[in-house]
Amino acid sequence: MELTSLADLLDLQELDLQIDRLLDERQNLPELAKYKKAHEELGTLEHELGEAADSLRSLELDFDKSEGELEILEAKLKEHETRLFAGGMSGRETEHMRLEVESLRGQREAMEERVVRLLDTVDPAREVVTRLTDRKEEIEREKGRLEAVIKEEWKRIDAEVARKEERKLDAVKPIPPDLLEMYEKLRASKEGVAVGRFEGGVCGGCNMALSPAEKDEALSQDIPRCVHCRRILVA
Ligand SMILES: [Zn+2]
Repeated sequence: MELTSLADLLDLQELDLQIDRLLDERQNLPELAKYKKAHEELGTLEHELGEAADSLRSLELDFDKSEGELEILEAKLKEHETRLFAGGMSGRETEHMRLEVESLRGQREAMEERVVRLLDTVDPAREVVTRLTDRKEEIEREKGRLEAVIKEEWKRIDAEVARKEERKLDAVKPIPPDLLEMYEKLRASKEGVAVGRFEGGVCGGCNMALSPAEKDEALSQDIPRCVHCRRILVA
């Protein structure tokens, strides 16, 4: 095997490793993790907001209904009081009307209390909805911002990968097909590093030393391989 071919393999591997790093960077952008978190938080918030809005709506309905009932009670009470104060009824009728007015006053008081109580719960419920809505909008803005950053970063990385792929086309040209095949197989099983520079008796792939006998044995092969990690050695 020609030494130049082996040296070319090192150049090819450098390009391949650069591409590996770019693809790794693409998959592990910090913004991606943040985007995922924002997406999840948004889902939780939407759920919470839905429940808070439902509960506010039912409180508001209850409040409106109680207010309406209070108005009816007040009108009825006024009418009964007017008739009672106008007089002209029999003793029995007057007593009946007096009891009726008394009962209506009790009902009005209870309804007033109910309206006040509801008002006290409607306001905090509305605040919860406002707070959750604000937070949701904030997360949506953040998610949009992250999405833009990710798109921009991916565009940059993809362009760099394309440039390196282009250079790879030239880099593989001088390498014989069988050597290239061995290189690809080794790369797949050895974390992307198929070729080690052999310097000072040490394999650059696994950083282990070869004894003089091992070195002679390895370098006498058509394609020198490290006895420890089986990577291709470039002397
Ligand atoms: Zn090795």
